[in-house]
Amino acid sequence: MDIDRIAIHESVAKACPLEAMVAALRGDVPVEAVGDDASFDAGDCVVTFSPRDAFLDAAWVHGIRAGYDEFDVAAYEAAGTALTNSTGIHGDTVPETVVGYLTAFARRLHVYRDRQGDSDWTQEPYDTAFTLTGERVCVVGLGTIGQGVADRADALGMDVVGVRRSGDPTECVRRVFTPDELNTAVADARFVVLCCPLTEETEGMVDAALLGTMRDDGYLVNVARGPVVVEDALLNALDTETIAGAALDAHWAEPLPEEHPLWDHESAIVTPHVAAFTNRYHEDIAALVRENLDRTARGESLRNRVA
Ligand code: NAD
Repeated sequence: MDIDRIAIHESVAKACPLEAMVAALRGDVPVEAVGDDASFDAGDCVVTFSPRDAFLDAAWVHGIRAGYDEFDVAAYEAAGTALTNSTGIHGDTVPETVVGYLTAFARRLHVYRDRQGDSDWTQEPYDTAFTLTGERVCVVGLGTIGQGVADRADALGMDVVGVRRSGDPTECVRRVFTPDELNTAVADARFVVLCCPLTEETEGMVDAALLGTMRDDGYLVNVARGPVVVEDALLNALDTETIAGAALDAHWAEPLPEEHPLWDHESAIVTPHVAAFTNRYHEDIAALVRENLDRTARGESLRNRVA
């Protein structure tokens, strides 16, 4: 594969400034920002947040997110266009955000922040605050993000269990379950943290039955993708207090519609898909793309290739 242009699609602005990405990738190969009117050829590498049909004419498309569920992998394979993703760079950002959610729920920080605007000194009832130490967290999906969550939860003294397709043991996780044991894995957990990709297997995985299996003082954290959770089932579980709360960074529709009941839900923390945000995202992406450019120059296979 001979790359003679890096085309940075304007959609990268959803994750970082377009100019910063252009600057970070400037080097031997010409770099240019492009919009939806651009066309592509077999010398192009496209760096993008979102898919476009026209990208199939390029040699290689790099998605700047870990999840590639919006890309039509079969179409890339049929067109012979390489598709790479950005798995591997979210091992600090998203896990740190997850620690924030867990700490907020345990120490009630979200409640006090809500009251601050009203100069409200009200203290939460005695039995609502708890410590993370000793609490069980079940991490579903033990890849880059899941392992990062497990490492941090372990360092906080939590009892860490997890779900992994292989079921193989991994560091900082006391017990690893396989996906067919998901019910058992979540049953005794105070926190269930979703860190898996959206696939045919995981879509709707967290349904009414699974939420019913969770502890009624348990919290769900979704930093994966919205459709991994059945929306109505979660809203019902929150309304009926089948679970104690949920922190959601990934949603069914994004932006989450203004009238969505989650916005006003006392026991929910809603963030606008920002768990991975960092002021050095453009550098992390550029390092991945540069590594793959070097690989193509050496005739080696691409890292993170998904099609
Ligand atoms: P990764 O590929 O490193 O890890 C995903 C892991 O999930 C893999 O180990 C995979 O085997 C496992 N998995 C797949 N199906 C599973 C199942 N049914 N049960 C349990 N485990 C399963 O990817 P990552 O970088 O850790 O990212 C994981 C997902 O998180 C992404 O696919 C994306 O959807 C989401 N994500 C969200 C944000 C955000 O801003 N909220 C940022 C990055 C990634």
